[in-house]
Amino acid sequence: MTDSVLPSGPKIIAVANQKGGVGKTTTTINLAAALCEVGHKVLVIDLDPQGNASTGLGIEPEDRELTTYELLLDEAELEAVALRTSTENLFLVPATVDLSSADIELIANEKRSFLLHDALRQPAMAPLGFDVVLIDCPPSLNLLTVNALIASHSVLVPLQSEFFALEGLSQLMLTIREVRQSANPDLRIEGIVLTMYDARNNLSQLVEADARANLGDLVFDTVIPRNVRVSEAPSYALPVLAYDTASKGAKAYRDLAAEIIRKNEKRAA
Ligand code: ADP
Ligand code: MG
Repeated sequence: MTDSVLPSGPKIIAVANQKGGVGKTTTTINLAAALCEVGHKVLVIDLDPQGNASTGLGIEPEDRELTTYELLLDEAELEAVALRTSTENLFLVPATVDLSSADIELIANEKRSFLLHDALRQPAMAPLGFDVVLIDCPPSLNLLTVNALIASHSVLVPLQSEFFALEGLSQLMLTIREVRQSANPDLRIEGIVLTMYDARNNLSQLVEADARANLGDLVFDTVIPRNVRVSEAPSYALPVLAYDTASKGAKAYRDLAAEIIRKNEKRAA
């Protein structure tokens, strides 16, 4: 394992939470679009066999000839698997059900957790000029998610503003700790973002208060409101920023991108 090829390569962020339906894919797509709007070149890696990020970014199943699966198995170079999307500077490595294949599990023990790490550090990566890579994780703490955590500089955790939201988080934190101890000591938590927030709902406010009390600075100031435009956008194969650029959802994801950029600049200073 070596990082020497890419001293100033892209910042790699895993979007993870083992719960399904909490806003991982939505956050991946729209944060990516928001980062593109302010001039970044962004690569989304669809690491979920369900392929929702691929569909949401307009890559139809018949166009997913080379996918994350081939990338992981080193059967294709990044340049060949990264597809252009309708958003300028936003690229996607698509996924199909192939990704749930047992082949990955069968790869010799010491290597199989590092497949994505190694793929993203190919020498071929640098000339592509990506500033940020966002990895849309599947809803489990399986080998694919472990690959994402080992490949990444940080983890961004969407937390649905609902009862039991904080349950399950401790399991994710435990996995992050294990990955730090075993393979990726520098893995940071980029932040926790409350999603599907409904300001009129007491429960949303309670979950927010609970999260801020327990997790402090890890929780982003920005919260993503529940917004019907956000949920409609994928069926038009667009990020909400393109589907309804003035919507509350679009604004929130722009705010989240700005907050992440600000925090990273502060950290680097
Ligand atoms: P995950 O990837 O964690 O399974 P998704 O991003 O697919 O979750 O979101 C689950 C569902 O919730 C989707 O139907 C999505 O459109 C919807 N959704 C996500 N975020 C919002 C939001 N801010 N407002 C309204 N609906 C949302
Ligand atoms: Mg998803």
